[in-house]
Amino acid sequence: MNERAWIRRLRARAAGAEYLTRGIGDDCAVLRAPPGAELLVTTDLFVEGTHFLRRTAPPRALGWRALARALSDIAAMGGSPLAYFVSIAAPEWACGHWLYDFYKGMAELGSRTGAVLAGGDTTRAGTLTCDLIVLGHSPAGSALRRDGAKPGDAIYVSGELGVEAKRRRVRFEPRLALGRYLRENRLASACMDLSDGLAMDLSRLCEESDVAAALVSPLPLAKGVASAKALTHGEDYELLFTAPARRRVPATFNGLPLTHIGVITAGKAGRVTLDAKPLAARGWDPFQS
Ligand SMILES: [Mg+2]
Repeated sequence: MNERAWIRRLRARAAGAEYLTRGIGDDCAVLRAPPGAELLVTTDLFVEGTHFLRRTAPPRALGWRALARALSDIAAMGGSPLAYFVSIAAPEWACGHWLYDFYKGMAELGSRTGAVLAGGDTTRAGTLTCDLIVLGHSPAGSALRRDGAKPGDAIYVSGELGVEAKRRRVRFEPRLALGRYLRENRLASACMDLSDGLAMDLSRLCEESDVAAALVSPLPLAKGVASAKALTHGEDYELLFTAPARRRVPATFNGLPLTHIGVITAGKAGRVTLDAKPLAARGWDPFQS
């Protein structure tokens, strides 16, 4: 397949988005923001050897995962996906069926969540490197941010922690419906998605909000995973959020548990304790040697 044939196939998959005036096939994509909305933009790198190993999963599942990781950030802001852009530098082994199946996996999740492929670029390289840009939207001024947590707010997490430390799942569901629910009902004072482990991510949320946090066990750990591992392994892609103490947060959302795990305090910004003992902000960090 040459590049033109490739683009024709991708175009056929990408048709029909409501806010996409012009998609693949022109010099730029042309998008309209929904009336009264703000745009959310996130970028995510997906690199062979760093974020995935090609032998561990079929390309279709890896494509799903690449887009799911980026959509998790849109979920964290309470947004709805609009469009995504994929730039891929691919080695020879990936050109052809592997790459096409990888795009198929992205399109599968994209069509379920309302994200349409609106452009990108391809080139050759020694290591497969994929850069995904996702555009989302939410009503102006309403996006869930990390900097709104106040002392006394309750801390919640969705689902289980350490799921990936236990079993290598490839496909997962970004928590888009939960994020929108939290935003629409003004339940969360701060929110983020868990990509690098609760210990690190909660510390980040606290730093942005200029507060500290006191966690209390038991935490909702995946069965058979040690607490230290579950808190630092990362790739949970659950939502971590805070809510004012007076707000009633349901115990589940569409069957997904929402567990009260602690309280925001007025201590040193970014400091997190678990059962009154300091919890180091350790987790996935690409700059750590
Ligand atoms: Mg994130």
